[in-house]
Amino acid sequence: MPDFIARKLTDISPGFLRSEKIEVLLCDLDNTISLHRHKRPPDEVFRWKKTLDEAGIELVLFSNNRRGRASRNARMLGVKCFERIGKPRTAGFFEAARVTDVPLNRMALAGDQIFTDVLGANRAEVKSIWVVPIDRRVPHIWLRFAFERLVVAVNMIFGGKTFEKL
Ligand SMILES: [Mg+2]
Repeated sequence: MPDFIARKLTDISPGFLRSEKIEVLLCDLDNTISLHRHKRPPDEVFRWKKTLDEAGIELVLFSNNRRGRASRNARMLGVKCFERIGKPRTAGFFEAARVTDVPLNRMALAGDQIFTDVLGANRAEVKSIWVVPIDRRVPHIWLRFAFERLVVAVNMIFGGKTFEKL
């Protein structure tokens, strides 16, 4: 179950992160920042990243992607990158805490997958923010999303959570 739910990545505001005492925001790449077929993050993400910079919050790419896509995108955004980290395994989170020198309880992770991103963050005791996948039309993503939606709906009904502009 995610700690927070956002409709899109750029809805997560620096003000919200500061109120949660977050110093590092780990961020999934595929279907959270941009789509697989896109060569660079959307302009909106660059503008949003700048507002994080101004608030002193470090954005870090945190991806399971194995093809170097994450490090290319990280270079464009000017952020650190951890790739091939195998979420929901927790090793990558500990490594990120070591490299950034920020404790796990001062980190949050934003990602579109309940069973990799959210599960991994929860296991590492990093705050989890589930972001609705950008593209839900691809059949296998649609199926997974339908199931994740069910998990989130149960969470919303019993946990009293709603979509928030965070
Ligand atoms: Mg993803």
